[in-house]
Amino acid sequence: MTLTTATAVIDRQALVENFNRVKAFAPKAKVLAVLKANGYGHGLELIARALPQADAFGVARLDEALALRAAGVIKPIVLLEGFFSEQELPILVVNNLQTIIHNREQLNALTRTQLEKPLKVWLKVDTGMHRLGINPEEFDTFYRALSASSNVDPDIVLMSHLGCADDESNPVTNTQLALFEQLTQGYNNEKSLANSAGCYAWPQTQFDWIRPGLILYGVSPMAEPEQDAQTLGIKPVMTLQSSLIAVRSLKAGEAVGYGGAWISPEDTNIGVIAIGYGDGYPRHAENGTPVLVNGRRVPLVGRVSMDMITVDLGKDSCDQVGDLAILWGQGLPVEEIALHATTIPYELLCNITRRVQVEVV
Ligand code: PLP
Repeated sequence: MTLTTATAVIDRQALVENFNRVKAFAPKAKVLAVLKANGYGHGLELIARALPQADAFGVARLDEALALRAAGVIKPIVLLEGFFSEQELPILVVNNLQTIIHNREQLNALTRTQLEKPLKVWLKVDTGMHRLGINPEEFDTFYRALSASSNVDPDIVLMSHLGCADDESNPVTNTQLALFEQLTQGYNNEKSLANSAGCYAWPQTQFDWIRPGLILYGVSPMAEPEQDAQTLGIKPVMTLQSSLIAVRSLKAGEAVGYGGAWISPEDTNIGVIAIGYGDGYPRHAENGTPVLVNGRRVPLVGRVSMDMITVDLGKDSCDQVGDLAILWGQGLPVEEIALHATTIPYELLCNITRRVQVEVV
């Protein structure tokens, strides 16, 4: 007997096809593929190696960038949260890493030291998301200070980030775009604004560099359920799967799992699948969340445990121990599971834990 344990199957071909699809949305722009949080849970080095077509990679923090360099990745890498301390600056230089500058502390740190080589920087201005980025009024001052510093490569990329691009009816994106254009007009520098939703739904935000993340992994960044992956022409890269490790019959009125939280209304068969919140399956997935067992949709019932979930296979089920169960991916969009767990696909993907085996196809 050999049962499949919790496994994330990573489809490299789907990744490349999604990349090409994004290029078709934004044919003129260069692509900074966003790989932070372990490549959205898909594997940092694995995704970087599978995307030789990308012009650059974006990560959040230094350790992610260094892991890529240690794996032999030589492409440009940008730290999307910028650097966290002055001591990181020589490390960025030695490893040929680029950084965002989004606050005055970073500007001060960068201009008061003496670096061996100029650092390539992306100046991030806040155009309305009010998370990272300098205030629009400070834009010229920052730009001039950076340009005057011998620590800074003269080719500064000008950037901002969109907060509401997943919703085509939200006017905030056009307001952000207008402010970004107004601030950066007259500068011949490269510009960057679009995330995944921008690449797909807001062509004017594409500029010189697009920064897609989620869409590359085959998941729709759009809020409207109709704008799903199929409509966008992308395919899931990750299929999370496991197997049935027990099948048991249940009488009407019997309860399942911790707290006896689900009581069967009729005689049925319960399948136990080897995956739980210890693997990253969401603890808050509600009863009725679909699971594909042998390609058939069956509902999750009872509470999600650390290592297992239970599904109602129905009283006529022929499913057996060892049969395949798909939690999301091929045939079952992660977007749908996110709705049942009151979260977003981003969180589900990057919550996959180290215990989950990775199989690359
Ligand atoms: N650019 C920046 C600065 C980001 O922080 C992110 C992710 O949050 C992205 C691009 C990619 O976003 P998405 O995955 O929605 O495409």
